[in-house]
Amino acid sequence: MKKISLLGATGSIGVQTLDIIREHPAEFKLVSLSAGRNLELVRKAVAEFQPEYVSVQERGDSDKLKAEFPGLKIGYGPTGLEEAAVYSNADILVNAVLGSVGLSPTLKAIEAGKTIAIANKETLVTAGHLVMEAAKKHGVPILPVDSEHSAIYQALQGERAKNIEQLILTASGGSFRDRTREELVGVTVSEALNHPNWSMGAKITIDSATMMNKGLEVIEAHWLFSMPYDQISVLLHKESIIHSMIEFHDSSIIAQLGTPDMRVPIQYALTYPDRLPLPSGKRLNLAEIGKLHFSQMDFDRFRCLKFAFDAGRAGGTMPTVLNAANEAAVAAFLEGRITFLQIEDLIEKMLDSHENILNPDLETIKAIDEKTRQDVSILIP
Ligand code: NDP
Ligand code: MG
Repeated sequence: MKKISLLGATGSIGVQTLDIIREHPAEFKLVSLSAGRNLELVRKAVAEFQPEYVSVQERGDSDKLKAEFPGLKIGYGPTGLEEAAVYSNADILVNAVLGSVGLSPTLKAIEAGKTIAIANKETLVTAGHLVMEAAKKHGVPILPVDSEHSAIYQALQGERAKNIEQLILTASGGSFRDRTREELVGVTVSEALNHPNWSMGAKITIDSATMMNKGLEVIEAHWLFSMPYDQISVLLHKESIIHSMIEFHDSSIIAQLGTPDMRVPIQYALTYPDRLPLPSGKRLNLAEIGKLHFSQMDFDRFRCLKFAFDAGRAGGTMPTVLNAANEAAVAAFLEGRITFLQIEDLIEKMLDSHENILNPDLETIKAIDEKTRQDVSILIP
């Protein structure tokens, strides 16, 4: 029986993780969870899964829960996130919180020797070097949940990293795949939220439409697989059936395929190196699909992908700025305060004006993250 801590239990990945735990009661037990502001879902999860510890974003909400669930340990805010992440008897942390707020709890959980199943890509983008260094030091596995990285992890089983020619990340293209840049002027939030293949949280759906999601994933892949940026490429593949591939030196390519269902990579991270049946999972019927399509990525059309490669190559605090500027700009777009194309403009401005700091420690990263968010907010009317 694996004991699980789950950060972001009320989100898209969090709820799907709970589905998996529900389906395999003999394999998994939820011992702690964190959420933001969705108290309704927290109440349901507490009643159903009976965790020992719960953390929410606001103090007022934690007071409400204390009155409703006497006997439950309850925390709030950044400290609560850390407490949920290191909860004493958990074996594995599933980090499905949104944003770089997930960094400190991840580092704490690594120090506490927990296995990390990471969906929270912003953490690896903003401070991949700190996370991977700490994981190495404490002998803690970092298991990818993001579908592309899970695909690569699966394709790598029984292989040697030194034989890799390149990682090929596939990209669906997001909501605006077939539009030119001119056609992006005036697009609405609801159009941007309409992803053709995946049902996900709002922020990552916008990231998919700007292609920043793939950019973040390039940096994520760099850290998870110790792969130089020159050996990571991106291929447009509109069906989202091949979730990513590895090309080896002998030109052989190993890919992982499946219907677009995040429960597969979530469950694989939880059961690794074993596998379990996926209840109500739709099997892939290639004969029905008939054709798969691929095309080259256009860096002029998808500028955010270029920003990410450049920031990743520059290293230091550049990826922190990329991530924080993106988080702030996407939040502003979702609130209707800026246009879709202004997301890229704001990120570009932040990157251009930043003086890179190499080998940043945790405090430096937190300070640059905070400053970037402030600088973005100053530029937004
Ligand atoms: P959602 O927006 O659906 O969920 C985010 C979760 O984080 C919610 O539980 C939310 O709480 C909580 N949360 C947000 N901000 C805070 C905060 N400041 N403090 C505490 N909790 C907070 O996101 P997704 O599930 O879509 O994504 C989660 C992560 O997984 C992201 O990093 C994303 O990039 C990554 N990912 C997601 C995929 C997907 O299919 N959705 C695929 C691959 C990666 P509440 O709702 O209660 O306010
Ligand atoms: Mg992904």
